[in-house]
Amino acid sequence: MLVIGPHLSTAKGYARAAKDAAEMGANAFQFFSRNPRGSNFRAYNKKDIDQFQRMRQEYRFGPLQAHAPYTMNLASSNHKVYEFSSGVIKEDIKRMDALKIEYFVLHPGSHTGSGESSGIRQIAAALNQAIEGNERITVLLETMPGKGSEIGFRFRHLKELIDLTEHSERLGICMDLCHVFSAGYDIKNSLDQVLEEMDAQIGLAYLKTIHLNDSKYPLGSGKDRHLPLGQGEIGIEAIMNMMTHPNIKGLPFYVETPLDHEGHKKELDYIKALLEFEKPVAADE
Ligand SMILES: [Zn+2]
Ligand SMILES: [Zn+2]
Repeated sequence: MLVIGPHLSTAKGYARAAKDAAEMGANAFQFFSRNPRGSNFRAYNKKDIDQFQRMRQEYRFGPLQAHAPYTMNLASSNHKVYEFSSGVIKEDIKRMDALKIEYFVLHPGSHTGSGESSGIRQIAAALNQAIEGNERITVLLETMPGKGSEIGFRFRHLKELIDLTEHSERLGICMDLCHVFSAGYDIKNSLDQVLEEMDAQIGLAYLKTIHLNDSKYPLGSGKDRHLPLGQGEIGIEAIMNMMTHPNIKGLPFYVETPLDHEGHKKELDYIKALLEFEKPVAADE
């Protein structure tokens, strides 16, 4: 079954976000675990949460993904930033697990000058204090474009993080199409090779979800600018090849494109129509 949905705001409640998703023809969605540019989150409203959980059943939603805020940096050499960030992930992993959210995705972090290996050790320490091992939620490390001193733009960084984490069975990878492409992995012309490399370095079993987006900048640019599907350097053909690839097609797709609700609905309709068109080919496998 195709599981796909956009990134939505939960500012008006979780039930409202679920309703918005259903109205767009989505059967999943992603949202921020708290204010993405601040540090606060609102207390749960029991009525809203009860309604949200009922709607997930009723609409037969696939897995949902919570995204950590942008203000945190687990690899920061500034102690205050590190303490704040490790507190945030510990708290949000608990909060999202209690909400029965399937995935919690985070940007590994930027080492801000202290070097890759020290950054990686810090991120692993933060994960180890945050993950107890009895959670149901899976914590995902996002593939990054590699701007500034970002960690996670090479598959080997993610592998190291998994290896250094005590409860690595609770970890996985979210592949962001714009980011991997910007990082220099040519998913447009050599998708099989990129997936083989990911398999060899991390293991494809760790790949749990996909961020669907096109890239404003070319292969290897190291930049992070998302565009609507088919309007960037990756292109719709490569995105379709990705979505229908035997190693990818069962995974949840979260669309992270700069569009409003109407735009997201049209984009989902467009993608579904293309997938429908490709069906006879997929049946030959
Ligand atoms: Zn992200
Ligand atoms: Zn991005």
